[in-house]
Amino acid sequence: MEQNPSFDALGLDPVLLKAVRAIGYTVPTPIQGAAIPAVLAGRDVIGTAQTGSGKTAAFLLPILQRLLRTGPGRTRVLVLSPTRELAAQIETALRDFAKGTRVRGVAVYGGVGMGHQEDALRRGVDVVVATPGRLLDHMERGNVDFRDLQVLVLDEADRMLDMGFLPDVRRIVNALPRVRQTLLFSATMPRPIVDLTRSLLKDPVRLAVSPPDRPPASIRHEVFPVAQHLKTALLVRLLGREDMLSVLVFVRTKRRADRLARQVSQAGFAAGRIHGDRSQAQREQALGDFRNGRDQILIATDVAARGIDVAGITHVVNYDVPMVPTDYIHRVGRTARADAQGEAITLMAQEEGHDFHSIEKLLGEPIPIATLPDFDYRAAPPPRSTGGDGPRGRGGGRGRSRAPPYRGRREGPRGRGGGRPYYTGR
Ligand code: AMP
Repeated sequence: MEQNPSFDALGLDPVLLKAVRAIGYTVPTPIQGAAIPAVLAGRDVIGTAQTGSGKTAAFLLPILQRLLRTGPGRTRVLVLSPTRELAAQIETALRDFAKGTRVRGVAVYGGVGMGHQEDALRRGVDVVVATPGRLLDHMERGNVDFRDLQVLVLDEADRMLDMGFLPDVRRIVNALPRVRQTLLFSATMPRPIVDLTRSLLKDPVRLAVSPPDRPPASIRHEVFPVAQHLKTALLVRLLGREDMLSVLVFVRTKRRADRLARQVSQAGFAAGRIHGDRSQAQREQALGDFRNGRDQILIATDVAARGIDVAGITHVVNYDVPMVPTDYIHRVGRTARADAQGEAITLMAQEEGHDFHSIEKLLGEPIPIATLPDFDYRAAPPPRSTGGDGPRGRGGGRGRSRAPPYRGRREGPRGRGGGRPYYTGR
């Protein structure tokens, strides 16, 4: 796919070009260059686009243009998203792109009261961005009128499948006008999504921005083999590296997220956490603290992290090896957004070797092994561990930790060399 030299060549309205410039985009990403003209031409689109590809603007900009042409009315656009975080981000992007227009949107998702969303929907909005479960609640209450709907977007369709939303999605789509434009974006194309595209899209244009199941080439991958009970100690040492400015850490379970957040905080690092048991307000707070640099570290489970869009994540750490290989791609795609450099570090216990090799198979190449030369990889497990999978309450960890205290986020170019002397790749 050709990279377009500028947004001006794509046929967008001057008011949208102005908003794009104000946001700071100068060159369209490949998916934008390809999708914007296709959507403007009224075509259905299947976009195999990974996280960070710029797909949000790829569908929002031409949709906004369509809304500009048709004047005010009832809800004409529905965007379905798997998670609240993604829905909130799409709505924020919409607000930015719609500056200078009269287009209004609302995000509708669970975990917060219905009242505010209900008011907004009943007042009438042009664009509804929603997670499927909450939208069905509103539809059942008659809060939303889709009779004038013109465009349906299914964003991160593979994630909606993973999260069990496909039956909800089908129920929603069955209640929409049949004559409409449908756009579907998905990082991967598993069989049920291919079937979905067959039933919902008409003569779609297919756009793939990079081979599916591949992370951006600008990411450097490394794996540290380490015993399960030493993962936290090793992570704490890595977090002390100069270049670890903004680190997203993935864990397998909510409990492990809570425990790890406690441990790294005790070691002197500013860390937030985000997972399914946290309230919407807590998630937003954690995300905000991470985004503005107050927290150097954000600890997340896969589902909660879906849709996290934070610029400048320097490292993604897989504290646990993901059991589903494509989750690795989704996780590491959080760094190196929009072609920046990024680093993906995986801590692998012996029992995770099998899952790890599936990832290497998916990537089509081995991930280089790295070690910290002065780390005691043979340290015994703590005397009694009820969880059996990591160091327990480090009480006084601050004193024991050799990691420097949190230094705050640095400005300017990242000192990538800073971490080098700490370990050797093999
Ligand atoms: P998305 O894949 O839509 O979640 O976008 C990923 C990130 O890339 C977001 O932070 C966008 O603001 C950013 N982005 C999208 N399009 C462009 C562009 N043309 N130039 C620079 N950054 C962009």
